[in-house]
Amino acid sequence: MKKKRTTERYTLADLDNWREATRNIKPPIRLGVFGDPVAHSLSPEMQNAALAACNIDMQYARFHIRPNELRSALHVLTELDLVGVNLTVPHKIPALHFLDDADENARLTGAVNTIKIDGQKLRGFNTDGRGFSRAIREEFSVDLRDMRVLVLGAGGAARAIALQCAKENCERLVLANRTFDKAKKLADDLLDFFAGPKVFGPVPRLQAIPLEEPAVRFQIGHVDLIANATPIGLNRADSSPIPARLLAPHLMIYDTIYSCERTPFVSAAIEAGARGANGLSMLLHQGALAFEIWFQREAPIEVMRKALGGS
Ligand code: NDP
Repeated sequence: MKKKRTTERYTLADLDNWREATRNIKPPIRLGVFGDPVAHSLSPEMQNAALAACNIDMQYARFHIRPNELRSALHVLTELDLVGVNLTVPHKIPALHFLDDADENARLTGAVNTIKIDGQKLRGFNTDGRGFSRAIREEFSVDLRDMRVLVLGAGGAARAIALQCAKENCERLVLANRTFDKAKKLADDLLDFFAGPKVFGPVPRLQAIPLEEPAVRFQIGHVDLIANATPIGLNRADSSPIPARLLAPHLMIYDTIYSCERTPFVSAAIEAGARGANGLSMLLHQGALAFEIWFQREAPIEVMRKALGGS
């Protein structure tokens, strides 16, 4: 019998007719990623490599689910023999309303990137923050605890990163967003984490700023790590979210975007004599943590890294 490729895209109509839609597929599809768009997702390559390496007899597929289909698609999951799914743009935030429970990271972030199907229950998790933390350790050999961090953005990824920095008791956290109110709201949400005794010079430990040149320029000498959690850089024509002339050699630049090795932000870091890394390592580690949630066993991290094109 013909075996379909795992990277094929499925839809809500396929989920509604799952047994028929996947009749000839071996090993069976029991994991996947929901997104709109979803064609660009690298999770199938990474997770299928992990499944094969661990001799787990199932496959991971892409599902093109539109925003108005999310509720139905999640509902159908409870009736099928699936292990779980990942969520990507634009489902991470709305999905929280459709779950039976969610872990602390998902609740505090307000976004879910991993769902485990537990009998009839959908349990939500967010592995982006811990994935970011592992990526920073791997790329720069530092812990968030010791860092003064500037996060660009205040959406789902930025919230997960900021929460992780707060939980690890980073030295300082500055949140910069185009819509200032959203940065302010995120800072307010994290206030309790910064009530402790770590006192830090003339600048506040927790601060929201607008993503504008004068405000960012002022912060450069007071931060060590800058994480881009905006989509600026996804398109080839994009410029760096912070121009190279504002950056300085002491900085570590982490771009959550992984569409190319040298994103505009990473290029700007190199131009400024700073260190820079793209988001592939965060993708890897958030995926490995999802694998561990689904299977309660260590993920084959080097196999997954290789599947993403790393060495
Ligand atoms: P959201 O849509 O939730 O948030 C987007 C954020 O970017 C908002 O703060 C928004 O600001 C800001 N923004 C959007 N466009 C612009 C712009 N033109 N100029 C300035 N700010 C802008 O997206 P996510 O948080 O889910 O994703 C953000 C990025 O993180 C994506 O590019 C994604 O690729 C990456 N990501 C990477 C992961 C990895 O594993 N490497 C994991 C998750 C995400 P405003 O509030 O003003 O609209």
